[in-house]
Amino acid sequence: MSPPATTTQTGGSISLPTAPGKTLSTSAASLPVSSRRVNGNGLDVWTLFNQLTQRYGAVNLGQGFMGFPAPQFVKEAGREAVMDESTTQYAPPRGKPELRNELAKRYSEAFGRTINPETEIVVTAGGNEGLLCTFAAFLNPGDEAILMEPAFDQYIMNLKMVEGVPKFVPLTVRAGVDPTQGVISADDWELNIDALRAQITPRTRIIVLNTPHNPVGKVFTREELEAVAAIAQEHNLVVLSDEVYDRLTYEGRPHLSIATLPGMWERTVVACSAGKAFGVTGWRIGWTVGAEALMTACLRAHTSYVFTVNSPMQVAIANAFKVAHATGFFERQRDEYLARRGRLTRALDAAGLSYTMPHGSYFVLVNAHNVRIPDGYQYPPEVADKDACYKMCYFFTREIGVTGIPPSEFYSTPNAHLAQNLIRFAFCKPDDVLDEVARRLQRVKAFTKSDA
Ligand code: PMP
Repeated sequence: MSPPATTTQTGGSISLPTAPGKTLSTSAASLPVSSRRVNGNGLDVWTLFNQLTQRYGAVNLGQGFMGFPAPQFVKEAGREAVMDESTTQYAPPRGKPELRNELAKRYSEAFGRTINPETEIVVTAGGNEGLLCTFAAFLNPGDEAILMEPAFDQYIMNLKMVEGVPKFVPLTVRAGVDPTQGVISADDWELNIDALRAQITPRTRIIVLNTPHNPVGKVFTREELEAVAAIAQEHNLVVLSDEVYDRLTYEGRPHLSIATLPGMWERTVVACSAGKAFGVTGWRIGWTVGAEALMTACLRAHTSYVFTVNSPMQVAIANAFKVAHATGFFERQRDEYLARRGRLTRALDAAGLSYTMPHGSYFVLVNAHNVRIPDGYQYPPEVADKDACYKMCYFFTREIGVTGIPPSEFYSTPNAHLAQNLIRFAFCKPDDVLDEVARRLQRVKAFTKSDA
């Protein structure tokens, strides 16, 4: 049986329109009730930590938006596209041909197969809408999708929208590696393939894979992808491969799409983001790539959710890709991110904090096991009833002056303890911000356990 819908609304009486010509006067007891798809637990983590950042004047390394200006050539492409009369009306639901053609070229090279821009690409409103469309396309209510924890929180919200059921398998730190002893590698976070297999039921339809991974920074290896691919084929599952950070891998780590493994093209939806690729998260352009049958299903969902994505920014991204490839932009951008990663990790080293060195994406997972929050420390009501991970992040915002996001938000309730002492910092920020973070992180030393 479905749980009853609840509402958080309170207040006096309002008038609700009913049948034409009639008005129903009602009291708070009969106010409209929201559906269980949108029920929540109050303030979301992003809003809460943005508010706390403001309140305490902290430096915000919480949310993963870029703190530096978008590249000039991308903005120029945006300006030109808006002024181009051909972009002022609806794009085809599948996306502007200019962008699909450009993407087909890029993904044909990257995937080693000819991608058909007419049938194998759908342009979406950011990577996120591609994820939502894929869930909607392949899940009936009650069907299950397997998520690897820590998992980007939007997966769960999207699943709720389509009444899909998340099942969880945690990535865990390799036996013999102590995450509290300095720096560990994102490679040390492993997927236990038997644990993944154990989550499969007759209702399982999708495995969600995220490489490069947010927040661990793990770039899955061919062997790991092969193991996931074998299970997907054995159980006839779709793999939703979230590759929004595909252009941000470091130290020569190759990003490998599971879609390119034998037998996987027919069952993989790859979701990508121009926001991450070009530093324009506000433009809300993304795309899904996959076999025609998969894209036909995604397109139906997409046509129903948003019908079509804004035209000018699609054309702008198509043109930005051309410039980017002609000028080596992605290689330059990768070096810039690598330098930012170095700035943040050197600051963590100097503060005596342990962390996972990411090989992709722009997040660092800090393990603040040695930071001792003073006994009797007071938390505001919005944090007081939260877990230890939230409290540690609050402490960092208030006392250290640096905001991160509590990774317990990326775990299911039974596994949230795995996030204890963890803080996610985003390093997609300018040098002066990261330098200020370095100064502030020195304050950690006043709270470091001497026995740690
Ligand atoms: N997947 C992951 C793992 C992400 O981190 C994000 C953005 N934070 C998205 C998808 C969504 O990307 P977009 O902003 O293009 O919707």
